[in-house]
Amino acid sequence: MDFNLTKEQTMIRKMVRDFAEEVIKPRAIEIDTEAKFPLDIFEQMGELGLLGIPFPEEYGGSGGDTLSYAIAVEEIGRVCGSTGLSYAAAVSLGASPIYYFGTEEQKKEFLTPLASGKALGSFGLTEPNAGSDAGGTKTTAVVDGDDFIINGEKCFITNASFAKTIIVTAVTGKNEKGKNIISAIIVPTDAEGVTITSNYDKMGVRGSDTAEIVLDNVRVPRANLLGDEKKGFSQFLYTLDGGRISIAALGLGIAQASLEKSLQYAKERKQFGKSISNFQAIQFKLADIAMEVELSRNMVYKSAWLKDNDKPFTKESAYAKLFATETAFRAANQAIQIHGGYGYMREYEVERYLRDAKLLEIGEGTSEIQRLVIARQLGC
Ligand SMILES: Cc1cc2nc3c(=O)[nH]c(=O)nc-3n(C[C@H](O)[C@H](O)[C@H](O)COP(=O)(O)OP(=O)(O)OC[C@H]3O[C@@H](n4cnc5c(N)ncnc54)[C@H](O)[C@@H]3O)c2cc1C
Repeated sequence: MDFNLTKEQTMIRKMVRDFAEEVIKPRAIEIDTEAKFPLDIFEQMGELGLLGIPFPEEYGGSGGDTLSYAIAVEEIGRVCGSTGLSYAAAVSLGASPIYYFGTEEQKKEFLTPLASGKALGSFGLTEPNAGSDAGGTKTTAVVDGDDFIINGEKCFITNASFAKTIIVTAVTGKNEKGKNIISAIIVPTDAEGVTITSNYDKMGVRGSDTAEIVLDNVRVPRANLLGDEKKGFSQFLYTLDGGRISIAALGLGIAQASLEKSLQYAKERKQFGKSISNFQAIQFKLADIAMEVELSRNMVYKSAWLKDNDKPFTKESAYAKLFATETAFRAANQAIQIHGGYGYMREYEVERYLRDAKLLEIGEGTSEIQRLVIARQLGC
């Protein structure tokens, strides 16, 4: 086994860390308190090639691998959960399905602007009455000549207000067993009948755009159907398997930040005449966080490696997502405890880590759904 990163992966880590430290970190508190999507940061990330890490150069990408991309998400998550979430959603959900399932024409037309960082993409699966039960999709796409006419409503969609395209799941018919066929269709956000509103007042990841989408007789060419019409459901399950690696990486970044902040604070803060890092109660907390961070990293990197090596990774990406996101929540919670009253104050940032980490246990499949995925993989 070789746990070393390649030269390219090491270079990406350094490049993203420098960018995160210099450009994103100084604005992380403001992004959270003002709940303002940092579009200019995304423009810079696009110029650096970060939005195209796992895509080939011929489609505007950087020609990197999933592990490099996971490292980039980890580094951005380490300084800002909001930016990390929008980044992970743009790449894993907005762009990747086009790369996985798109035709050559679709890749040229729709993937290239996303991978080259000139535009953002979104993925609209969740509906008001279809969350964990995504098969309960109510949005419909009816064929009319060479077009689909789409009607429905999507909720909680990341980046939609700033997106050029949204991959929308919709019912396109029934199979032989009478069950709904769900397909994925690329919808340009400037199509007539698309209304996007972003009025959610969120607990965390407040600078990440989250929007509601109403599709009212939206007409798009049938050529925008993504992949196999009958396999839309399995396509988005595959997409979510990949997306989970990036949400896990984001959890890892937040957990790492919680560890670094806590360790530094514990060494500096003096009570009873000595640094609180001398107290075993604090040391045990730090030891637990450090151990869980390392275990999360191993699982995140392993699942990325499996994907890069074309091996099955459904179970491992669920392990990674479940463990790393719950680690992030525990680590942030203990980071507040280690900071005492100061940890409860915004300027110390650890309370933001906790609010941001909570979302990771919900989005892209809740912790309960990860356990279901794992149990199914075990043959239950
Ligand atoms: C900030 C944010 C960003 C998001 N971004 C996107 C996005 O870009 N695109 C997108 O499509 N969606 C997005 N989502 C939606 C997200 O994926 C869903 O919220 C999530 O899948 C859960 O669905 P739900 O909210 O309807 O909860 P529900 O499915 O109603 O779940 C409620 C509770 O019941 C539990 N539960 C449900 N079914 C089962 C079961 N079978 N067994 C055990 N427990 C169960 C859940 O685990 C949860 O605890 C986002 C959500 C948020 C909050």
